[in-house]
Amino acid sequence: MLTDTPGIHHVTSMVGDPQENLDFYADTLGLRLVKRTVNHEDVLRYHFYYGNGDGDLGTIYTCFPYPEEPPGRRGRPQLTATSFAVPPEAADYWIDRLDERGVVTERRERFGDPVVRFEDPAGTRLELVAMGSPVEPWDEGPVPAERAIRGIHGVTTLPVDPYQTASVLETLGLEQVAERDDRVRYRAAGDRATVVDLLDRDTGFGREGVGSIHHVALRADGDDLREWHDLFRERDLLVSRIHDRHYYRAIYVRAGGILLELATETPGLTVDEGTEELGERLVLPPWAEEDRPMIEDQLPPIDVPTPGRRDSDDG
Ligand code: ZN
Repeated sequence: MLTDTPGIHHVTSMVGDPQENLDFYADTLGLRLVKRTVNHEDVLRYHFYYGNGDGDLGTIYTCFPYPEEPPGRRGRPQLTATSFAVPPEAADYWIDRLDERGVVTERRERFGDPVVRFEDPAGTRLELVAMGSPVEPWDEGPVPAERAIRGIHGVTTLPVDPYQTASVLETLGLEQVAERDDRVRYRAAGDRATVVDLLDRDTGFGREGVGSIHHVALRADGDDLREWHDLFRERDLLVSRIHDRHYYRAIYVRAGGILLELATETPGLTVDEGTEELGERLVLPPWAEEDRPMIEDQLPPIDVPTPGRRDSDDG
């Protein structure tokens, strides 16, 4: 018997300049850099993981900097937005904070929740959803804890075949919980990072590049990964072999054109550094360690915004 996914594990996007990315996510958004590593498929590229203080699953947003790639274009089939949870009543704070930093915001409402929509420097669409969340924020960051991001709320997908995407989500245990206009909401049963929205919209085709969201990963029980793989293959879906990503094992499946990953909850981000030290140094997968001098020499230097520079709390 396969265990339903409790929700999102992480979301991964392709971005441009690594320093610009760090400044935006660690300073403007106030997320903690919880892992400074390299792309396992290309070790001369950074892979940054952002999250809450403990780097809990469901708070993790990861970025691959590809400064020389052309910009992507939103369209089918793609993930078109990632939303983060912020506390109820925090929308005005965030609109002011983003405005002060020259980020254009748009206020919306979706299924009863206030939503603040904007783009990161790479052009990736992000949203803040002002709603309750059990996730502990990072309390040493530049954003006061009572306003800070509480991990991922969900993602929006724009599939070429919404029925196939929906079918795979239902197989993984998500349920359709709401529908309005061309947006159908699926939700996993866990307590955080549970929302996957499907847009049934006849728009143009997208192009992957800087600013594209590459995939969304859902949490899976480690014992089930092989069985999920076999199940998807039986259904003639495009599914990868099992990859060892050092912090988790994973398979990738295309569902209605959308790249979904199933990632295990163990061993987790603290397998190679303690919670206190997360993100402070470059960590490499064990098999790349012998090439560390060459890798460090090739990666562009970066300056991680210093934590603890808290803005005033009145705001
Ligand atoms: Zn991933």
